[in-house]
Amino acid sequence: MAGSQNGSSEGFKIPQIKYTKLFINGEFVDAASGKVFQTRDPRTGDVIANIAEGDKEDVDLAVKAAREAFDHGPWPRMSGYARGRILYKFADLIEQHIEELAALDGVDAGKLFEFGKEVDIPTAVRMLRYYASAADKIHGETLKLNGEYQGYTLKEPIGVVGAIIPWNFPSLIFFLKVSPALAAGCTVVVKPAEQTPLSALFYASLAKEAGIPDGVLNVITGFGLMAGAALASHMDVDDITFTGSPEVGRKIMAASASSNLKTVSLELGGKSPVIIFDDADVDMAVDLARAAIFFNKGEVCIAGSRVYVQEGIYDEFVKKSIEAAKSWVVGDPFDPVVNMGPQIDKVQFERVLKYIEYGKNEGATLLTGGKPCGDKGYYIEPTIFANVKEDMKIAQDEIFGPVMSLMKFKTIEEAIERANSTKYGLAAGIVTKDLNIANRVSRSIRAGTIWINCYFAVDPDAPFGGYKMSGFGRDQGMNALEKYLQVKSVITPIYNSPW
Ligand code: ADP
Repeated sequence: MAGSQNGSSEGFKIPQIKYTKLFINGEFVDAASGKVFQTRDPRTGDVIANIAEGDKEDVDLAVKAAREAFDHGPWPRMSGYARGRILYKFADLIEQHIEELAALDGVDAGKLFEFGKEVDIPTAVRMLRYYASAADKIHGETLKLNGEYQGYTLKEPIGVVGAIIPWNFPSLIFFLKVSPALAAGCTVVVKPAEQTPLSALFYASLAKEAGIPDGVLNVITGFGLMAGAALASHMDVDDITFTGSPEVGRKIMAASASSNLKTVSLELGGKSPVIIFDDADVDMAVDLARAAIFFNKGEVCIAGSRVYVQEGIYDEFVKKSIEAAKSWVVGDPFDPVVNMGPQIDKVQFERVLKYIEYGKNEGATLLTGGKPCGDKGYYIEPTIFANVKEDMKIAQDEIFGPVMSLMKFKTIEEAIERANSTKYGLAAGIVTKDLNIANRVSRSIRAGTIWINCYFAVDPDAPFGGYKMSGFGRDQGMNALEKYLQVKSVITPIYNSPW
């Protein structure tokens, strides 16, 4: 266990918390009820700040502002070029505050500060610039219709978008949703996770500074059961984009079905396999598999939580993986030597430990880890189970923690079948030097992203989303822009009107 765990890692000062209120129609305001909730530092469990607790009344106000900005404001009506320029300015402003933003996510979510500064927030900025540059390239098609008619399609913004986001990537997922929606000309109400409201409120203030008109981007902090549910069932919200658990995904679909049939896209959980073949460089495969599960403390929907290793290299892989896990440094996420900070909160911490107990009770072999570490906060050791069987809970359920399940396989066919044997289909990793194996397996795995000899390579241009119960719809790429657009057909007679 490294690091001080008290926020006083050398040379680092936790930023002052400037924004704690709801952001509605361009202003920071208290919740209508006056209520607040506490956001906590997972390194200690201590309260960082009291945050306005938005509920139905506040969601109504935010949606009203977003509706007004959409129906009558300049945002959807201005040229894509003009929108893009404002979004570029937004991106520039974020860049000027990267350190502060990485610190907010560090203290709120226990995320590595250096990684936030170098990768997480820069990727969010790239996401924003990717869609800023697409804002003036949205166009329909011309249609040659049967008989006497011709037509064209218009791509129009879908309207008011509700973005409900989780706590594991508070910055990246914020921009995964907000960037294409804004570029398309939509107005947005964001509901950040109750565990991580801080950076979202900071982004709201930067949006205003960048010149995004009032009402176009609103942020309602608060709980899922209140603020989130109110957004999902709102009659004036046209689309919900959601990242989170399958349980909540179902509720959001049900809320849409029983309200106004708003469109819904869901990016849900995963239980992603990493399949390592005999011809792999074992050291490289060990490093890749370690990062695939322990990065961001396993709190990643695309975590490589099931590792299938072919029998020829299995024993060597196991031996080296134990060493690799032991050298993965757990501690204060502000300490640059640390690889893994604390789990997000007590609930998650206890949930992960419960799954470790299931693993032991179901007969898997605990190779390393398995215990909390440190005397405060929500730290858990990097944990590896071997002899895991597909019918065990640890092989089927998304644990969302630093727990690797190791399994041995003989043939390609067996690997494919077993890799596909969960309800999820978000991502998969393949490690092999054999192009034929890589091609065959990548086509046979039912998942939205396949990484060959790499993992976590995320890019704004690569569509991202799930097969099976990992959800539907894609974030990233030009596909994501389509989610926020309606297609309208306009038809005219070529010569004379029949009427
Ligand atoms: P996780 O398991 O990652 O915490 P959740 O699915 O519980 O994911 O939460 C993801 C987001 O969904 C959070 O912003 C949360 O507040 C919100 N949420 C939770 N329950 C509901 C609900 N019933 N309706 C709408 N949003 C919800």
